[in-house]
Amino acid sequence: MTETAPKTAAVIGAGPAGLMAAEVLSAGGMAVTVIDRMPSAGRKFLMAGRGGLNLTHSEPLDIFVARYGAATAHLEPMLETFPPRALIAWADGLGAETFVGSSGRVFPKAMKASPLLRAWLARLERQDVRFRLRREWRGWSDNAAAPDVTVLALGGASWPRLGADGGWTALLKATGVEVAPLRPANMGFDVDWSEHFRARFAGRPLKNVALRFGRDGARGDAMLTRYGIEGGAVYALSSALREALAQAKPITLEIDLRPDVPQLEIESRLARPQGKDSRANYLRKALGLSPMETNLLRETATPPERLKSVALRLTGTQPLARAISTAGGISFDALDGALMLKAMPGTYAVGEMLDWEAPTGGYLLQACFSTAVFAARAILDRLALPRGIEPRFQP
Ligand SMILES: Cc1cc2nc3c(=O)[nH]c(=O)nc-3n(C[C@H](O)[C@H](O)[C@H](O)COP(=O)(O)OP(=O)(O)OC[C@H]3O[C@@H](n4cnc5c(N)ncnc54)[C@H](O)[C@@H]3O)c2cc1C
Repeated sequence: MTETAPKTAAVIGAGPAGLMAAEVLSAGGMAVTVIDRMPSAGRKFLMAGRGGLNLTHSEPLDIFVARYGAATAHLEPMLETFPPRALIAWADGLGAETFVGSSGRVFPKAMKASPLLRAWLARLERQDVRFRLRREWRGWSDNAAAPDVTVLALGGASWPRLGADGGWTALLKATGVEVAPLRPANMGFDVDWSEHFRARFAGRPLKNVALRFGRDGARGDAMLTRYGIEGGAVYALSSALREALAQAKPITLEIDLRPDVPQLEIESRLARPQGKDSRANYLRKALGLSPMETNLLRETATPPERLKSVALRLTGTQPLARAISTAGGISFDALDGALMLKAMPGTYAVGEMLDWEAPTGGYLLQACFSTAVFAARAILDRLALPRGIEPRFQP
């Protein structure tokens, strides 16, 4: 009796989305080959690990899914298929036990990606996943031995030295796939600091501030940089700020330097006379302003009584190459309900190359994992293959 050859899958891109697709497909009995142009897998995943590897977030799923803004309706079924708790269980199964940080963000206890990636690659090897590294993918047209299915997991275009450079956009557009322009997400913004201010305060954090832009607001820290401002609270508003800057420049970001102190109290503290104190000393004693904050008020021509609404002029965005993530990508209209490209039957797309964006907080990796599990399961269903030998993804 001859055995039928297993169905073959090529996964292009060895980032978290590609590796997750490879795991599910190989667990379902497919012969999987992962191709990547880099000499090793998961380079951006490892870089994310430098910041502690914020895998996902612990908030309720209905709040979680809303973080994806316009893409929420598209991503909801994928996030329900493989929700944060399933990702946490999966990481645990690879020996990367997680904890919930004070902000609700979920991290592996090791606070890095390398042990998790090592255990994951070992598991993929046990599942007979083959790796073809240092291979550039340029489409299947010149390849006679095309696999049964292809999963594209080529990533966005931030930090291109880690492998993903968005070069795939031209290739897919040429085959009729609609791709929304790639734009920076979770990035810094330009400010025309004076030379004096830049030299003294670039690299200093603004701790526990509230930022406002139009109807959007964010609490947290920001970092003053040579070119302007960045950091968690800025990233949270980056999508709205980017879109506004695309319409008109400059725009005004409002900073509340003392979000927990009411305006009336600020005014009453400022009612005490300055006496013999220098201006900086007086403001330090009355309001606890650091030299950096006092200089920021001067730099932005803000009187101290208005420190809850410092108007910072943003003149531009930092480039995509320096962003944490990428907005834009393959339009959901170009995909069927299983994330298969309508223009390229048999070819699926997952991860950051799809047209969604989200703030930092674990939403980026979670969507990469969830889209990969969703597409891979749909592929197994379409090929009438079992949905994997391990129940570890079941929530
Ligand atoms: C500094 C930094 C910190 C981050 N921290 C976090 C975090 O804490 N939490 C979080 O949720 N997210 C974080 N992210 C974002 C997260 O890392 C990405 O969203 C995620 O890696 C995207 O996964 P992906 O598999 O879709 O793409 P990638 O991880 O970018 O993988 C794509 C792969 O495709 C390969 N490739 C591309 N084109 C080709 C080609 N033509 N031929 C062959 N191979 C190709 C690339 O070499 C790459 O290996 C961070 C990102 C950065 C830059």
